[in-house]
Amino acid sequence: MPRDYYEILGIQKDASPDDIKRAYRQMAKKYHPDVSAESKDVAEAKFKELSEAYEVLSDPGKRQTYDQYGHDGVKQQFSGGGGFSWNDFTHADDVSDIFGDLFGSIFGNSYGRRGTVQRNSPAQGESLRYDLEIDLGDVFHGKTVEISVPHTAACTDCGGNGGKDGKSETCRQCGGQGQVQRVSRTPFGNMVQVTDCPECRGSGRTSKEKCPKCRGSGYLNVTSKVTVNIPKGIEDNSRIRVPRAGDAGHNGGPPGDLIVVVHVKASQDFKRDGADLWTTVKTTYPRLVLGGEETVGTIDGETVSLTIPSGTQVGGVLRMLGKGLPKMNLGTRGNMFVRIMMDVPQKVSAEEKELLLQMDGGAGKKAKPKIARRKKSD
Ligand SMILES: [Zn+2]
Ligand SMILES: [Zn+2]
Repeated sequence: MPRDYYEILGIQKDASPDDIKRAYRQMAKKYHPDVSAESKDVAEAKFKELSEAYEVLSDPGKRQTYDQYGHDGVKQQFSGGGGFSWNDFTHADDVSDIFGDLFGSIFGNSYGRRGTVQRNSPAQGESLRYDLEIDLGDVFHGKTVEISVPHTAACTDCGGNGGKDGKSETCRQCGGQGQVQRVSRTPFGNMVQVTDCPECRGSGRTSKEKCPKCRGSGYLNVTSKVTVNIPKGIEDNSRIRVPRAGDAGHNGGPPGDLIVVVHVKASQDFKRDGADLWTTVKTTYPRLVLGGEETVGTIDGETVSLTIPSGTQVGGVLRMLGKGLPKMNLGTRGNMFVRIMMDVPQKVSAEEKELLLQMDGGAGKKAKPKIARRKKSD
């Protein structure tokens, strides 16, 4: 957080322009790196801080904005993770312009979305992200979805130039360049800065009267229906780009894109591994031993018969060819792997119990359970 500009210059909030100039000269002499008694780093930092404070407070417009918004306004403008969105810009009051200029001039272009790029050159609009959740059935069948996308569009009344009835003229202050050179006098010479034109905010065009529909911004907030085709077999976290469905372009540039990020919900019945599916089927002990049939639900929604070979172990895996998901753009399908588990009954009838005991004995086990002596029969 930078220090208060008034404090840096050692002046009161109601200081006159002359006071500010005088204070700056005094302090600048003291802290100029060439003459300062401080170490070079400290002197440079102080001098930079000082120049920044003077830059703002010596300009009546900037001073007013600073008084109104303080450093918080600045911080907000720069904390967006490197991205100024168009909304930030169009709704920005003078703060962003002022501090854009300011930081541009003092710190070079390191903060700069603007940098040396001409702001009045056509630029693509912002791309938008939309997160779409689908289920495994949608992956199997493919899906067409219509989504509502809020975005900006060029104002229909002014065609995007922000002037009433679309009227605009070349900015007189910058001659349509969108940028102006400004010379600041310092006690040590002139500092030349190239900044966005304050009159046209860098667009190179001005309008006498603002378009009432978009309040001069040239943009409207609209919601469009966009149809997105989800191909069969799509992987989780895939991105589908819908060209030009994003925010409106700047200065006649094309709109941004819409990026649909597809999330595939986990399924209770199947675990996915690429185009292959995994599922579990429970069968009985006799079928494991002797072999038999089980039914399995597939991703198609069908029930198919699965042959359990004799001697199948618990946890064994059987493969059902071509019963997996479609492979994108190939027209073929992956496989379904079925893990065989055993259904152990919690309750058995007397007959079943008898049979189980016989089986157990028949298998050559010496230890007979006590329960064997309490048989009903005989
Ligand atoms: Zn308009
Ligand atoms: Zn201009």
